[in-house]
Amino acid sequence: MYKVWIDAGHGGKDPGAVANGVLEKDIALKVSLGIKERLESGYENVQVLLSRSSDVFLELRDRTSRANAAGADILVSIHCNAGGGKGGFETFRYTSASQSSIKLQDTLHKAITAKLGGTDRGQKAQNLHMVRESNMPAVLTENLFVDVAADADRLKQSSVIDAIIDGHVQGIATYLGLSKTKEEKPVTQGRDINVPSKWAETTWKGVTEKGFFDGSRPGATVTREELGTVVSRLLKYVDQKG
Ligand SMILES: [Zn+2]
Repeated sequence: MYKVWIDAGHGGKDPGAVANGVLEKDIALKVSLGIKERLESGYENVQVLLSRSSDVFLELRDRTSRANAAGADILVSIHCNAGGGKGGFETFRYTSASQSSIKLQDTLHKAITAKLGGTDRGQKAQNLHMVRESNMPAVLTENLFVDVAADADRLKQSSVIDAIIDGHVQGIATYLGLSKTKEEKPVTQGRDINVPSKWAETTWKGVTEKGFFDGSRPGATVTREELGTVVSRLLKYVDQKG
C-alpha cells in the first residue's frame, strides 16, 4: 500500500495569499480533499494522508515531522502563488533534490500543465521547508496566482479546480505506477451533476421546458419510479396533443 502525503498549505489564522476574493488556504484545502477522494476511489493500493482536512493552522515543522513519522512514500504540498508574477503554474523541488524528487516533479508538472493549460512558469528548485525537511520525494505546486485577476477568476471555476485535482491525481498515479480500480466508476463521478453536459444542453432544455423533467440534477442517475413519472408525463403530453 503506497502512502501519499498531501499537504494543504496554510490554514486557520494563516490564510496564505489573499486577493480578488480568493484565499490561498481555501483552494489548497479543496484541492487536497479532491486529490484524496479521487486517488483513493480511482486507484488501487494507495492511501492518502493529509496534513489537514479542515481550516486549521499548522506549523511547517509539524507537517514534515508527521509525514516523515508516517513513512509516506511521497509528499506533495499544495499552494497558490502571489507577489509579482504575471500568472501561471510552477512547481518547486529542493535545491539539492534527490533523483526521485526530480522525477516526481517532472511527472507531476507535466500531468498538471496538460490538464490546466495557461502559462507554464517551469520546474524550479528552491530552499523551501516542505521540500527540504521531507524524507521522501517531495514537490510543492504553485497553482495559479490569486493576485492576478485572470488567474483568480479561473480559481473560482469548478472546472479549473477539477483540472488541478485531476492533474495531481494523474501525476501521482503515473509516478507510483498505480492501477485503476476494477469496479466501474459511477457515471456521476468527476462532474457536477447539477450542470448538464455540453452535448446534452439543448435536449435537456427542451425536455425541461415541456415539463417532462423538473430541471434539477441533470447528471444524476434515474430510478424506475422517476422514469415512470417521466413516462406518465409523456403520455399525458401525447394525449393532449390528440
Ligand atoms: Zn503558500
